[in-house]
Amino acid sequence: MSAVHDVIIIGSGPAGYTAAIYAARANLKPLLFQGLQPGGQLTITTDVENYPGYPEGVLGPKMMEDFQAQAARFGTDIRFEQVVEVDFKKRPFQIKTEFDAFQAQSVIISTGATAKLLGLPSETELMGHGVSACATCDGAFFKEKHVLIVGGGDTAMEEANFLTRHAARVTVVHRRDEFRASKIMLERARANKKIDWMLFKEVKDILSHKDKKKVRAVVVEDTQSGETSEVACDGIFIAIGHRPNSEIFAGQIDTDETGYIKVRAGSTYTNVPGVFACGDVQDKTYRQAVTAAGSGCMAAIDAERWLEAQDHH
Ligand code: NDP
Repeated sequence: MSAVHDVIIIGSGPAGYTAAIYAARANLKPLLFQGLQPGGQLTITTDVENYPGYPEGVLGPKMMEDFQAQAARFGTDIRFEQVVEVDFKKRPFQIKTEFDAFQAQSVIISTGATAKLLGLPSETELMGHGVSACATCDGAFFKEKHVLIVGGGDTAMEEANFLTRHAARVTVVHRRDEFRASKIMLERARANKKIDWMLFKEVKDILSHKDKKKVRAVVVEDTQSGETSEVACDGIFIAIGHRPNSEIFAGQIDTDETGYIKVRAGSTYTNVPGVFACGDVQDKTYRQAVTAAGSGCMAAIDAERWLEAQDHH
């Protein structure tokens, strides 16, 4: 087994790379594991227009290349490896990837979240070309268009309302007529004249224009009658929830009932001293690249100070 690292960072989205930039510049020689999707969720979006510093906008994958390059520039050891097991009960902490085993004094978890999807092949194919899992990110590309939003929770209601700022018409597609959304969010959406409702409907397929890679319609099935029909639209937003990528930490670290890692308010401290969490794996509220990056910076500073305090014992 190799030497003990000061800090190991798990995950390669805006939170992980920002933590790496700060940790590397603090001379902690971070080792970062990218996981299966280097760059994280932003690599499945197209244009990013709300990240400060890019006045003309930037492509999500390009932005994440820039993040990676900046982390590498200061000496982060970046590896395309997936962490499969951790042991936070031992000190130093034990981290296993599919290839090797590592030890660290401190760990920064930035494994992100994954948007739940419907599981249709057409959905994956058209992601970023009319299919999106993030209204805040992609709503502005549908000015004066007709878009659908799938889901009946708070996210769907909030995003439906948000989308009416851009789209001419927003149709909420939900598989039943009862909603998980809170009353206030539901009422707000119901009061919005630009929103209409298709209840007892499940999306079965997403259709595109020939060669254009643009959505033209969606096939829905009535959950009561089983009948299918085609609904013309320019885009479809999937808002059926997110899943934090915290499975490998189960039993090792405190999470809430939905799997989000708990951090001490105003910090990135988890319940395990020396383990810090940042980005979407601990944030179900904001979920933005810029907030993830901000919390990545916090995690590196928290880790640096924590390590320093250990040396003084
Ligand atoms: P939820 O789990 O609350 O809702 C998910 C919705 O998607 C449900 O209506 C569910 O339908 C539907 N759904 C799930 N899977 C499928 C599927 N395969 N096909 C069709 N529909 C599906 O997730 P949210 O992301 O909305 O909310 C998560 C948490 O975040 C909640 O606690 C929420 O309150 C909170 N939140 C708070 C906000 C705020 O306060 N501003 C904003 C956004 C989220 P069904 O009901 O039939 O299962």
